[in-house]
Amino acid sequence: MSNLFYQTKSPRPVLDRASGIYMWDTAGKRYIDGSSGAMVSNLGHSDPAVLDAMRAQMDKATFGYRLHFQTESSDDLARMTADLAPAGLNKVFFVSGGSEAVESTLKLARQYVLTQGQPQRFKVISRYPSYHGCTLGALAITGYAPMTAPFDPMMQRMPKIPAPRAYLDGLNPDDRATGLHYANMLETAILQEGPDTVLAFIVEPIGGASTGALVPPVGYMQRIREICTQYGVLLIHDEVMTGGGRTGRFFGADHWGTTPDLIALSKGFGSGYAPLGAMIARDDIVDAVMDGGGFIHGFTYAGNPLACAAGVAVLGQIAARDLVGNAERMGAALYSRLMGLMQRYALIGDVRGKGLLCAFELMADRATKAPLNPALHAHARLVDIAYDNGLIIYSRRTRGGTSGDHFLVCPPLITTQVQLDEITDLLDKSLA
Ligand code: PMP
Repeated sequence: MSNLFYQTKSPRPVLDRASGIYMWDTAGKRYIDGSSGAMVSNLGHSDPAVLDAMRAQMDKATFGYRLHFQTESSDDLARMTADLAPAGLNKVFFVSGGSEAVESTLKLARQYVLTQGQPQRFKVISRYPSYHGCTLGALAITGYAPMTAPFDPMMQRMPKIPAPRAYLDGLNPDDRATGLHYANMLETAILQEGPDTVLAFIVEPIGGASTGALVPPVGYMQRIREICTQYGVLLIHDEVMTGGGRTGRFFGADHWGTTPDLIALSKGFGSGYAPLGAMIARDDIVDAVMDGGGFIHGFTYAGNPLACAAGVAVLGQIAARDLVGNAERMGAALYSRLMGLMQRYALIGDVRGKGLLCAFELMADRATKAPLNPALHAHARLVDIAYDNGLIIYSRRTRGGTSGDHFLVCPPLITTQVQLDEITDLLDKSLA
């Protein structure tokens, strides 16, 4: 009997070791990490360069409280992160995970509008379905009732607009009119709420766990930016899952070249080597808050030297080995393999994604997009079958939590063509 508890009662195999895209349990069974954990291990497991860098840091100091010391690794990582970010966003605040990164953007945004004499701005518009984290602030802007409902009385209810699921609405995502149709829902929401009460809009450039690698329609991201600028609403990109090269660009939004005011980053940023995340912010936002008395926020473990040393080595490896380029190339190859499976299995109703943020959705009827009967628990069953076959994939029941089953296939960015074949074969076997 274990003293641990997480979400479910089912005990998991005990992890023994992991290397590259493979993991082994203590019974000696091998698994392919086809989802990089929860889209975390972008660099794969046990990368020698990262382990060496962490060992070197451990030999010097493992912890220094950020208000007592700056450290070389946190300074280096902040510089490297700012260099990757869009122009004008040069301020970096370290945290230990995605929820903390999102919370940080909300609090910085709020303190900023106070310095601008706009205390009435507090509403953060988000989308449904969406997932932005498990802390109460991040949960308040999460559009996924099964996770939020029990905590509703403890949260500020925040307005939500639909995510642009063109494939379900029978709209063509390559048509600009589709992008404008969904983006203009933000304008409608801002006008309904009262523009001077809206603080921010938060969006994943490519929808992750909640929508299953949902690529926005043409023109959507650009129009969102225009609307936010027009109404003085801060635009937050939640790049927790899309950042770090996963989509074939370092940031997901780099596909459209749009610049947010604040970015939340985690997962692939530390790549599983250390709990690590960051908020990246527009310079003038941070300057205003710092001049106004400082940011009332911070986590004890933030910017600790060991996590930052891991981050420096991770970013160094991503650049040195062109893993962002590999994500783009292998992503295209994975996409066409999934399309091949779709031709063979009528159950697959949609394949989507960019780079190695790839997904497929099971449906009862591809033409009508009718979901499978929820009682089948297809989202859990296929994952379990694949797991038995030695392949880890990630699923979420979507469409508001009542129906629809999608699966993220997101192996580490180091994955090779041969390994993609291995993944596809195991997926084929599991679907069969
Ligand atoms: N934002 C997004 C888009 C995420 O996918 C996640 C994690 N799945 C989070 C925030 C929260 O990150 P964490 O679990 O590290 O707190």
